[in-house]
Amino acid sequence: VFSHVAHAPEDPILGVTVAYNKDPSPIKLNLGVGAYRTEEGRPLVLSIVRKAEQQIVNDMTRVKEYLPITGLAEFNKLSARLIFGADSLAIRENRVTTVQCLSGTGSLRVGAEFLAKHYHQRMIYIPHPTWGNHPKVFTLAGLNVKTYRYYDPTTRGLNFQGLLDDLGSAPSGAIVLLHACAHNPTGVDPTLTQWEQIRQLIRSKGLMPFFDSAYQGFASGSLDADAESVRMFVADGGELLVAQSYAKNMGLYGERVGALSVVCKTAEVAGRVESQLKLVIRPMYSNPPIHGASIVAFILKDRSMYNEWTVELKMMADRIISMRQQLYDALRSRGTPGDWTHIIRQIGMFTFTGLNSKQVAFMTKEYHIYMTSDGRISMAGLSSKRVPHLADAIHAAVTR
Ligand code: PMP
Repeated sequence: VFSHVAHAPEDPILGVTVAYNKDPSPIKLNLGVGAYRTEEGRPLVLSIVRKAEQQIVNDMTRVKEYLPITGLAEFNKLSARLIFGADSLAIRENRVTTVQCLSGTGSLRVGAEFLAKHYHQRMIYIPHPTWGNHPKVFTLAGLNVKTYRYYDPTTRGLNFQGLLDDLGSAPSGAIVLLHACAHNPTGVDPTLTQWEQIRQLIRSKGLMPFFDSAYQGFASGSLDADAESVRMFVADGGELLVAQSYAKNMGLYGERVGALSVVCKTAEVAGRVESQLKLVIRPMYSNPPIHGASIVAFILKDRSMYNEWTVELKMMADRIISMRQQLYDALRSRGTPGDWTHIIRQIGMFTFTGLNSKQVAFMTKEYHIYMTSDGRISMAGLSSKRVPHLADAIHAAVTR
């Protein structure tokens, strides 16, 4: 009965690693993977995570019972404080409901399912381009996906006027997906002044902001600075949703730890929203896993552990920023044609190089360098030792 089932294509992002693994070349380089690597090219478990994990494992009073549908209560409280700020008025007024979900993706999906069921407008505007999974998550949740202009290939920066025009002509009440910081794949973020204009437009048209915060602390190294955009929208007293991920900033990729928060007008509404979120979650996966959320709560609740975390987080962010500079310098020293300042201007894990799919294919074939066909490279997958190889490949790709 399944003989008619066609073979599905590889996921465009995860498929890059599949191809990389098959390549026997000793010089191969994987810049497709959206995960942090050390200078030696290895995955990193933060020492603060190891420490928390050991204490959790040694604590014999901890059991493996089911969590509630909404997850670990302490984790939810601390996650809301992390994104909205310790002094957030919305938290003090109990207008926020936060539920633990399966990392960023699961938080987006639960939020989208909730909106599809209970919000009057099913249209969601996502930036063009955006993380490849966004349109699939939202479509399958029952929303109608439209795009707004975001990136300008000529400046390799923000198409701010295009963004304002497209959101300005969106139907009233439409949902708008915003990357809180370190936009994936472009590495291009609005300035705070531009954020303020976006906020005014969104509020004046009664649009519903839905923030995707997958890189808090990872972009600038500062958890507060990277949450600034979200906090501007909370400060005006309006409603919004936020999906948080701890994959990148705590390196908890495979633990699938994240949270969805819905900021409401009153505590009473927040309580009702939470009751409906439970109805979304219960038939989907019943309740979330306990281990990763326990690690996060352990770190967030203890001042000195929290401080240690921020030091490690800054170290990761700084290594990525230094990779940008080194790659830029290497291209300059080779006299590679073109303006490569966007490499140092862009923010976060990725650089949107501007290389086209033909150039990418050439670099994979001749230099064994793997990346998504849109020319996005993960700076976190690069190391000082491998910069010359990458710069040689880019130089060859653009001059051939
Ligand atoms: N949103 C964006 C913009 C991302 O880049 C990612 C990870 N690549 C995610 C969400 C989801 O990540 P996860 O589900 O692993 O938290």
